[in-house]
Amino acid sequence: MDPGLIRRCAADLVNARHAVAFTGAGISTESGIPDFRGPSGIWTKDPEAERRSYEIFGILKAIITQNIDGLHQKAGSKNVLEFHGSIYKLRCIYCGCRFPRSEFEVEVREKKVPLCRKCRSPLKVDVVYFTEPIPGDVYELSFAEAMKCDLMLVCGTSAVVYPAAELPRVAKRRGARVVEVNFEETPITREHISDYILKGKAGEILPKIVEVVKELRKKSF
Ligand code: NAD
Ligand code: ZN
Repeated sequence: MDPGLIRRCAADLVNARHAVAFTGAGISTESGIPDFRGPSGIWTKDPEAERRSYEIFGILKAIITQNIDGLHQKAGSKNVLEFHGSIYKLRCIYCGCRFPRSEFEVEVREKKVPLCRKCRSPLKVDVVYFTEPIPGDVYELSFAEAMKCDLMLVCGTSAVVYPAAELPRVAKRRGARVVEVNFEETPITREHISDYILKGKAGEILPKIVEVVKELRKKSF
């Protein structure tokens, strides 16, 4: 891991007006949830990794995640946009309202269809399946962030699933700096969408960036 690039990324974060993150399955692998395309299972489960790597998300204005595992929120991050939904939520097929799955345990137990508290239409799991369109609200909010940001930190995604993979491309077109954290190159590295890539484990790289960010911030006060 290049210490020069860690410093560069930390400085970019400190200087950014509106930094956002775009994450994929690779941000969760070290918490024991396997990804799809990365070489999974090559390291052992490290429960501490989750907290360490997520610390950086406190300095970001928004986190757009393709993950459905709810780990960003569990780690305390705010303004998490779950582009592909969440396994912990149900969504109304009519009005799109979301509700915590835990509120419908009775219906699930009695094998009744859970109904929307607002419009009484059936609820389905919030997860977006491969052929399904992205729900309009999260789609719009995510693309608005991609257009607004001046720095996008792209962590642990192979950037091949569309329309999500369009987000760093949009950010780049709007003049944002795009920084990747991944242990392998992706199409956005090869197409020079990302300005640079920090190669390695997110759980090791992100805490190092946080350390330098803290140093730089101390210096500026
Ligand atoms: P992906 O599996 O296609 O790619 C994961 C990427 O992360 C790879 O490029 C890999 O090299 C990298 N990676 C893996 N572990 C890493 C680590 N510790 N540090 C740095 N980089 C690491 O995942 P994707 O791009 O998110 O696309 C898969 C789709 O499947 C997503 O849309 C998501 O909805 C879904 N999915 C979600 C989860 C989850 O919720 N945790 C898990 C698997 C798949
Ligand atoms: Zn409804």
